[in-house]
Amino acid sequence: MAKFQKISVPKDGQKIEYKNGKLVVPDNPIIPYFEGDGTGPDIWRASQIVFDAAVAKAYGGKRKIAWMQTYAGLTALQNYDKDTVLPQDTLDAITEFKVAIKGPLTTPAGGFKYVCLVCAAEQNELDGKRPDKCVKCSSEWVTPRFRSVNVGLRQKLDLYACVRPVRWFKGVPCPVKQPEKFNIVIFRENTEDVYSGIEFEQGTPEAKRVYDFLTKEMGKKIPFPDSGIGIKPISITGTKRLVRMAIKYAIDHKKPSVTIVHKGNIQKFTEGAFRDWGYEVAKAEFRNQIVTEQELWDDLGGKMPAGKVLIKDRIADQTFQQMLLRPDEYSVLATPNLNGDYLSDAAVAQVGGLGIGPGANIGDGIAVFEATHGTAPKYTGKDQVNPGSLILSGVMMLEHMGWQEAADLIIGGLETTIGQKTVTYDLERQMEGAKKVKCSEFGKAIAANMQSAKVPAGV
Ligand code: NAP
Repeated sequence: MAKFQKISVPKDGQKIEYKNGKLVVPDNPIIPYFEGDGTGPDIWRASQIVFDAAVAKAYGGKRKIAWMQTYAGLTALQNYDKDTVLPQDTLDAITEFKVAIKGPLTTPAGGFKYVCLVCAAEQNELDGKRPDKCVKCSSEWVTPRFRSVNVGLRQKLDLYACVRPVRWFKGVPCPVKQPEKFNIVIFRENTEDVYSGIEFEQGTPEAKRVYDFLTKEMGKKIPFPDSGIGIKPISITGTKRLVRMAIKYAIDHKKPSVTIVHKGNIQKFTEGAFRDWGYEVAKAEFRNQIVTEQELWDDLGGKMPAGKVLIKDRIADQTFQQMLLRPDEYSVLATPNLNGDYLSDAAVAQVGGLGIGPGANIGDGIAVFEATHGTAPKYTGKDQVNPGSLILSGVMMLEHMGWQEAADLIIGGLETTIGQKTVTYDLERQMEGAKKVKCSEFGKAIAANMQSAKVPAGV
């Protein structure tokens, strides 16, 4: 076992193992978590109550999660040193224990030099010196600007798929007329594309060198020499492992189709290649389980054979339209990084917003489940925001571990609670006659509603 500097490993738990491509989950798995910044601690506390109650009820005490606290963001600054936001300890713990769950983290966005991890305010030097306290909230947790911890986690642990299931829960207010038609799982590539961080700032010697190389040596035309330049790598390896995961998921969960989303009509050697390599992996590795859309029409007269997964592709902009107009024709999407980022948020907006959108970052044998919204800093410490996103991420985690009965209990508890119109402020302000409860009260109501539920079959 790795030696940890600040993390205490629970004595009453065991490691989850990954053997021959499968997770082996003991009855008392150790699961690393970190609460996150801003409202993270509030939503974590509310969610943990729900997870523990679901597992206790589903398995009558035979199974129990041994939670292991790890640190990132503000809690890392508090426990390690003042400039460490993603300690090696945390990376080692997730690598070793395989399944983890996390709250949201502050990510500096602008050109400022420092960021406060309590209120997310960005700031520059004060009188030429690093500020001792935040100019906005006076906290002492101001740290130099850093690259996103979330992106760091994904890259360092090679969590190459961002998985976001998006469905509607009865009673949740939303902007479309038939939200029940929406049930789509998005697999977004997580490690390459324009997110690989290869950018050259306008006006720098590096940008000029790249500009000269492209225009003089490669014969490319760039409209204006005063350009910043970014690079978009998309590889066979990155594409195939992502599309492979999406197809496996569709087969395992009996989903009708996988749609490869791309902008290949314009970006032929990156997005277009993503489509081509996606079809390649489908035909080479899943030949007996899939039918391509072309085969469906050319060879099968449009009649889909039972039990097979349809593999199709759509241009990205068209996909945004289709998700609004004919969402029930889509089931699993496999997308490159940037398009997947946009599509994921647009999709969850259709069914009621980020407060109830779960997500996970998954690699080979390692998975980190997470609330997909940010730290909502203006609500920090107010016990007010909706913990639904983290609770549903926990549902994904339990399903990933094969603890489906506990996952089903939580879904049932959440549906009953929303059905009773007992909701946090974000939903209450859009629901007529709803009762507004605190973040912690919402968690307790879900747990209470599970107690009266029947334990799902199979236990
Ligand atoms: P945000 O934290 O997602 O919050 C924006 C707004 O969304 C909130 O003001 C609130 O809307 C609503 N919201 C967010 N979470 C909610 C919840 N649990 N329940 C109900 N409503 C919720 O976005 P931001 O203010 O742009 O970002 C704040 C910080 O979080 C930034 O540093 C950003 O980089 C970071 N961030 C982290 C992650 C992550 O860790 N995965 C993701 C995104 C952003 P109302 O004001 O209308 O109530």
